[in-house]
Amino acid sequence: AEEYVIKSAKLEMAGQLAAGVAHEIRNPLTSIQGFIQLLEETDKREPEYFSIIRSEFERIEGIISEFLALAKPQAVNFQENDVGLILKQTIHLMNVQAIMHGIEVVSVIEPELPLFQSDQHQLKQVFINVIKNAIEATTSKGQLIITCKKIKSHLHIEFQDQGEGIPPERIKHLFEPFYSTKEKGTGLGLMVSYKIIEEHKGIMRVESEEGKGTIVHIFLPLSS
Ligand code: ADP
Ligand code: MG
Repeated sequence: AEEYVIKSAKLEMAGQLAAGVAHEIRNPLTSIQGFIQLLEETDKREPEYFSIIRSEFERIEGIISEFLALAKPQAVNFQENDVGLILKQTIHLMNVQAIMHGIEVVSVIEPELPLFQSDQHQLKQVFINVIKNAIEATTSKGQLIITCKKIKSHLHIEFQDQGEGIPPERIKHLFEPFYSTKEKGTGLGLMVSYKIIEEHKGIMRVESEEGKGTIVHIFLPLSS
């Protein structure tokens, strides 16, 4: 329990620091972006340079928004939400990406689940992060099975992919900031997700077998 508390306090500090820096970076970045756009309109010599600049900007934007999600959410909006519906919407959103990677998403969402006190945008962020990872881990065709059901006093959400899997010695690093095995990864997705689930008093667990696939479990406690 002690270790857990320390880890949590560290996460908190890292989060506040990260969010502060992200805010400071965003302003000059917006200004630079504006000027580059002006340049692009007048300078027609090297159009491909601008497309590189634009895609690198998008990358920075992506990192910054993940950083900002680490902060204590400015406008936490906890409401009674239908988690099954949020999950369905997110799957719908990610389905094109899945299909492009040859992945069939199968979702089994129990009907009439009890509502859950939560921030729907944050939960959506978690689902996007986990589904994105599953898609990125599946190099050849496969299924991604997503289930959501009530077990006793919890909602249990499961994301089961048939991707490359994770060797046991890597599992413990997954929630660390900047831990990524991808060339273009930020290593922030799972850390942000962990923090959000923690804010909802839930638990996130990863189970994996190399070469077979990975299951990400999320347990959310229903209040009595
Ligand atoms: P990123 O996706 O930017 O690398 P994440 O925090 O989302 O960062 O994930 C951290 C690492 O965890 C990934 O780089 C990958 O090695 C591993 N990982 C996460 N989800 C999966 C998965 N479904 N299958 C295999 N590896 C995964
Ligand atoms: Mg990720």
